[in-house]
Amino acid sequence: MKCTLSKEELKFEWLMFDFDNTLVDFHESSRLAFDQCFIDYELEQKSDYYKIYNAINAKIWKNFEDKKITAVDIREQRFTLFLKEIGLVHLDGLAFNARYLDNLIKFTTVRPEVKEMLVKLKSNYKLSIITNGLKEVQRPRIEKCGLTKLFDSIIVSDEIGVAKPDVAFFDFALNTLDQSIDKSKVLVIGDSIHSDIKGANASGLKSCFIKSNKDQAVKADIVIDDVLELPSILDDIYVPVDCGWYDYLEIYAMRKNKVEIHYVESNTHNKIITQILDLQTKNKEEFVILSDGKRIRLDKVKQINLVD
Ligand SMILES: [Mg+2]
Repeated sequence: MKCTLSKEELKFEWLMFDFDNTLVDFHESSRLAFDQCFIDYELEQKSDYYKIYNAINAKIWKNFEDKKITAVDIREQRFTLFLKEIGLVHLDGLAFNARYLDNLIKFTTVRPEVKEMLVKLKSNYKLSIITNGLKEVQRPRIEKCGLTKLFDSIIVSDEIGVAKPDVAFFDFALNTLDQSIDKSKVLVIGDSIHSDIKGANASGLKSCFIKSNKDQAVKADIVIDDVLELPSILDDIYVPVDCGWYDYLEIYAMRKNKVEIHYVESNTHNKIITQILDLQTKNKEEFVILSDGKRIRLDKVKQINLVD
């Protein structure tokens, strides 16, 4: 978790979420939808097929985002090229694509925690979905997850003829709610450096990068591993810690060892050498109490090393 913004800068009014791999796990639903196509077509699937398709699909989407091809080309080309690659040229790539998209709607799900988070955020922020995707699936997929009503606006690239990272896409999105909005009050949240983060930066908007397992250098104002970490940064809401981590800290409190604690305070990383005297719970938030009387909220503690 990294945040370079001050408390004042964190006072956003509008959160714009990317959809795939930000709110929902596209990798999983795409994989399931792809596998289902082979069941539907009664075809034998080989283990490397999905990897082959993914490479072709990624190249095609990159060409689309770079405006080298149209959304119609995406539908026509990706499965046609894939089926050719695996030697099934007798099958219609466009029909296969349509089947895949149908399956993609069926297999798109959202984690209940993400939905709960959005419900809470809705009371304090305007919410938008900004997604690069095909019009026949994106809204049905959002609806399938029961998310449509939670958003003040939903912008699908294929519907407006322009995609992220194009500034025109973000201008369109900004105009869907309030044309007088101060851009510094808008946060774009997404997992793609190319389309979400670079697009937000070019449009003068603050950005939050969901890095998952990717270890990439990125010019984002906030970097998190999972979208569920967002409220703790925006509102400083306590995020309950793992039981194992709690037990581990309790052992240090019992033994009164000298420890080096790495923790986050006011969005900066700090380090202190001290002893943990106790763990305390107040208003459902847990704290470590240090020998000098200072207390640190448990979710702010990032690392502890024993000092000899
Ligand atoms: Mg995404």
